[in-house]
Amino acid sequence: MNIKKVLIIEGVINFLLMMIKLAVGFSTYSTAILADALHSLTDIANNIVAWFAINQSEQPPDEDHQYGHKKFVPLAIFFLATLLSVVAIEVIVQAASRFGEPVLNSSIGLGVMFIVLGLNTGLTLWESFWAKKLNSTLLQADASHTFSDVLTSITVIIGWQLAARGYYWLDTVFAIAVAFIIMFLAYKLFVQSIPILVDKSLLNQAKIARTVTELPEVKSVKLVRTRNDGEANFADITIKVDLNLSLATSHELADKIEGLLATQFNIVDTTVHIEPALDEDKQTQD
Ligand SMILES: [Zn+2]
Ligand SMILES: [Zn+2]
Repeated sequence: MNIKKVLIIEGVINFLLMMIKLAVGFSTYSTAILADALHSLTDIANNIVAWFAINQSEQPPDEDHQYGHKKFVPLAIFFLATLLSVVAIEVIVQAASRFGEPVLNSSIGLGVMFIVLGLNTGLTLWESFWAKKLNSTLLQADASHTFSDVLTSITVIIGWQLAARGYYWLDTVFAIAVAFIIMFLAYKLFVQSIPILVDKSLLNQAKIARTVTELPEVKSVKLVRTRNDGEANFADITIKVDLNLSLATSHELADKIEGLLATQFNIVDTTVHIEPALDEDKQTQD
């Protein structure tokens, strides 16, 4: 078993859950259950995106993508978040348009929804087991999401049962509640992916400059830039050294800085640019 296989099996089960929810939702006119079915659709999309992301980020750098392929992951997550937002709005529109419409009860439907709960709970336990065994934070995060799916389904079943007893408006309320859960998931995914896509600095620039300045050969630090590709940190740094420092010593210094930033700030790839430190008024003309 590996992470990708776990995701495939999970995707298949989520597909099954979605089909069951669609059948119950359409036969009882419950918008809340249909909303939960749409939620399952986003779970499937989630599994596909996670599989794609892991697969893609495993590829080494190539001629077209010389920095590697890690940013395909946040790109995929951003796409998924956009999809979730559209689904949430669609659910709200549908729920509002069916406000007060009758909702039917069905004992077969209820039994089937309990099977959904059982499957979903089993899936959570199974995924947590493999998350620990494979030591995967991605699977662990997904397992806790799967557990929240169980809670969502329980809420939806309660809403549907109350609605089917004559409180039709409750169906709309519970459907909109599901829409808000989906929106919250989308929000979390946007927060996770956008900083990486737009190269937001995730490290303390001043602290890096201070650490590098502590090296005796470094006169000053002119520029520090950092970015993250979703997995690893990268940095560009410009330092000023004595004009007469030899090339060999300068190169040694650059290597030292690379090592320092790797151990202290977990930066895997540092580009060091070295400039001669001239007198003060000349520096300002740089
Ligand atoms: Zn879900
Ligand atoms: Zn490529």
